[in-house]
Amino acid sequence: MGYGRSGARPLIIQLNTSTLPSNPVTPAIDGFIFDLDGTVYLGEAALPGAVEGITELRRRGKRILFVSNKPLEPRAAYARKLSRLGIPAAPEDVITSAFVLGYHLARTEPHLNLYVIGEQNLLDELRGHGLKVMNEFSEQSALEVIEPRGVDAVVVAFDRTLDYRKLNTAYQALRQGARFFATNADKACPMPGGAIPDAGGTIAALEHMTGRKLDLLAGKPSMLITQVALQRLELPAERVMMVGDRLETDIYMGQQAGMATAVTLTGVSRREDVARLAAPPDFVIETLAELPRIVSHDLD
Ligand SMILES: [Mg+2]
Repeated sequence: MGYGRSGARPLIIQLNTSTLPSNPVTPAIDGFIFDLDGTVYLGEAALPGAVEGITELRRRGKRILFVSNKPLEPRAAYARKLSRLGIPAAPEDVITSAFVLGYHLARTEPHLNLYVIGEQNLLDELRGHGLKVMNEFSEQSALEVIEPRGVDAVVVAFDRTLDYRKLNTAYQALRQGARFFATNADKACPMPGGAIPDAGGTIAALEHMTGRKLDLLAGKPSMLITQVALQRLELPAERVMMVGDRLETDIYMGQQAGMATAVTLTGVSRREDVARLAAPPDFVIETLAELPRIVSHDLD
């Protein structure tokens, strides 16, 4: 994904909890973008410090937005889950890769006929934005060359119902010049007990088979999701901090946009992973409860 090749960028401050300065020098941060899985919660439980940290940031008037690469559920479901875990949220407080793709296409290319490798939520999301989603060509045999009549663009997403018919249809459409979009490019989705295959492998398979490359990625770490997030916050990147557990998506995305960045060690990244980076995040935190201290200079 190119992470780490962008060279060093100036650090605002390299903070770790063992050497917390008494008067941290930090930029004026008015908004926070939070990844969800591994950052705010894991499974059905809020991570330690998450409720406390976010509640305190809100008390200080900070704007908060939650982002997820998962295209499996509507924004309202994430909002309900956050609320259930003690972080009251409305659907407007959340953006997903599915929402971002629908939002973007509806504004830029609303007339495309989309063939979607994805689950029902994504189909609903895209149709909800007024976009046209093609049905499966189920009258044609999946074992032969499927004629992808009318398909302008293929959308690839996390799809636990992926089968040969879908792969064959997408392949034929891409060979005939259809555009190539994806909600997210994650290789695997963390689950209790391990992880399951996500959209990354499907994208790679289609790229390998067709010699094509993805034309548009909606989710992290794309500039598209960054732009939509900043629009939602109504803040410039310099006044926003991206907080996440994954260096190659969350932190990379924040750095590319010129945001302050904080990696939390509650998810997939370890301190050793951070130490290996040419361009480390601005802050390394054990839990989100540390965030109010990072911006504590604006308390007084
Ligand atoms: Mg995460």
